Amino acid sequence: MDKKVLIENILSLKERYNAVILAHLYQNSDVQDIADFVGDSLELSRKAQAAEGDVIVFCGVRFMAETAKILNPGKTVLLPDADAGCPMADMISAEDLVNLKDAHPNAAVICYVNSGAEIKALSDISCTSSNAVKVAASIEEKEIIFVPDKNLGRYVSTFFPDKRFILFEGFCPTHNKIKLSDLESVRAVRPNTPILVHPECLPEVVQKADFVGSTAQIINYVAKSDKEEFVIGTESGVIHSLSKLCPTKKFYSLGNAMICPNMKKTTLESVYHALDKMQYKIELDADIAKKASVSLNRMLSL
Ligand code: SF4
Repeated sequence: MDKKVLIENILSLKERYNAVILAHLYQNSDVQDIADFVGDSLELSRKAQAAEGDVIVFCGVRFMAETAKILNPGKTVLLPDADAGCPMADMISAEDLVNLKDAHPNAAVICYVNSGAEIKALSDISCTSSNAVKVAASIEEKEIIFVPDKNLGRYVSTFFPDKRFILFEGFCPTHNKIKLSDLESVRAVRPNTPILVHPECLPEVVQKADFVGSTAQIINYVAKSDKEEFVIGTESGVIHSLSKLCPTKKFYSLGNAMICPNMKKTTLESVYHALDKMQYKIELDADIAKKASVSLNRMLSL
C-alpha cells in the first residue's frame, strides 16, 4: 500500500475505533510521526493511564504495552508486532527474583519498568530511567534489590553511598555495547561537543559522559542548551524527535549501531493491521496485573 494511503487508512481506523496511538522515542520515524503522543517510558505510562479512547495502540515493546494495560485495564491495548519484546526484560524470571528476595529478606525491591508483569508484581515499587534516583530516595530500607538492569542500578547506587544495592545481572544489549573507547574516539574528534548518554550504558561510559539522563531528559538538555552539536548515547530513534524539536542543531550517534531491533519491528503496516484486525491484544492474569499495578502506582504517586 502506498505510504500516503496507509497513513490515511490508519487515521480513519483510529477514528472508527476511538483509538489513541502512543509511541516510544525509539520507534521508527514514520511511526513516531503518526502517533498522538511520543515519549519515554515514564511519559507514556502517564499517558496510558489517562487515555480516554477505547483502544490504545502501543508502538513500543511488550513490557510497555503490558504497563499500559495494567494502568488502564478497561482499555483494549494492542501491540502491533507480537514479537516486539525486550531482551533485558526477558533476562530475569520470577524465580530469579523470588530467590533474591529469599536471600535478602530485609531488602526493598525496585524494578525498572523494563520488566515483565510478574516481576512488577513481586516488587515493592517500579521506576523508569527518569525517576530511578527519586524512587530510590523514597525507600527507607538500607538494602535495595534492583532488577533487572545492572547498569542503571549501579548508576542509581552512586547517589546513595549509605545503602547497599543488590543488583541483578541484566543489561540492555543496545546500550551495553557502547564501549569507553567509542566515547574516547568521539571526544578526540569532537572535543567541544557534549556527549549525552543513557544510564543503561556501561558505568565507565556513564562516568566519562557530559550528561546522563533518560531519553526525555536528554531531549530537555538539548532544548535548553545553547550548544549547536551533540553526541547522543542512546537508541538512535531519539535523534528523529531531537531533529524535529531543534532543526538547526546537529546530532551524532555514539557508537555505530545504537539500534534496538525490537523497537524497530513496529511499522506503519503493523500499526494498520493492529487497528484493522484488533491485534495483538494484551491479556494479563488478573491477580498478577493487580499486584503489578501497586508497584507502578506507587512510582507514579511520587
Ligand atoms: S533499547 Fe534495550 S531496554 Fe529498550 S527495549 Fe530495546 S533492548 Fe529493551
